[in-house]
Amino acid sequence: MLFFQRYRFGRFGLRWNLRATPALREIDLDLDGTAVAVTVRRHARARRTTLRIPSMGAPVVTAPVGMSDAALERFVRGHADWLADKLSRQTPARPFEDGAFVPVRGVEHRIDHHPGRRGTMWLDEDDGQPLLCVAGEEQYVARRVTDGLKRMARADLEASVVRHAAAVNRTVTSLKVKETRSQWGSCTNKGALSFSWRLIMAPPFVLDYVAAHEVAHLVEHNHSDRFWRLTEKLAPQTPEACRWLKQQGPHLFTIGTGG
Ligand SMILES: [Zn+2]
Repeated sequence: MLFFQRYRFGRFGLRWNLRATPALREIDLDLDGTAVAVTVRRHARARRTTLRIPSMGAPVVTAPVGMSDAALERFVRGHADWLADKLSRQTPARPFEDGAFVPVRGVEHRIDHHPGRRGTMWLDEDDGQPLLCVAGEEQYVARRVTDGLKRMARADLEASVVRHAAAVNRTVTSLKVKETRSQWGSCTNKGALSFSWRLIMAPPFVLDYVAAHEVAHLVEHNHSDRFWRLTEKLAPQTPEACRWLKQQGPHLFTIGTGG
């Protein structure tokens, strides 16, 4: 049975999800290059369809039970501009600025701005306090931290993906690291993997699990028992990592400016 809940085919336009379940659970949108998955809730007592953005996590659409999937998709796609506008105005709870704390590979680092220094971003330590140092003008601090973390995320994910792909003898055609709203990773049937750069904030065993999960999809295009057995073989820390993501994952979306 196919259960491609988190699969997206193609980068642009509509994304059709093949799934064995009758009801739509998620609607994937591409808002100016940012993948946004809208969670679908059916409610017996809902009289109208409403779209809202919780302070943490993905947007939610609530619809009456009788509404068709097609009508629901039309509704959500019809509100894409509204969603893009709202999401762009959301201010992060913890912006990247001098003195702020940001987890890097699961360890809290303090952002330390060095206006006079050359370079972009580097890790350091001050009396046992890990530092994330950033050079340049103040107005670019957030951007430089985000870019630096994206580079680190890419390097760590590449290392994990290469290792896991070799273990299952599969080829990865491309690897992207980007801003996502609700997906930690995704995988197309052509072998293109993409990941959330925010995984660099999680402990390394979590990032490695997400890499293993997507690589396992190159073999098993579903979430069957066989898929989970393979994922656990690649990443024995799978149960622990899943727990971590469930409990701590949403929090990572409140840190920094993204973009
Ligand atoms: Zn999956």
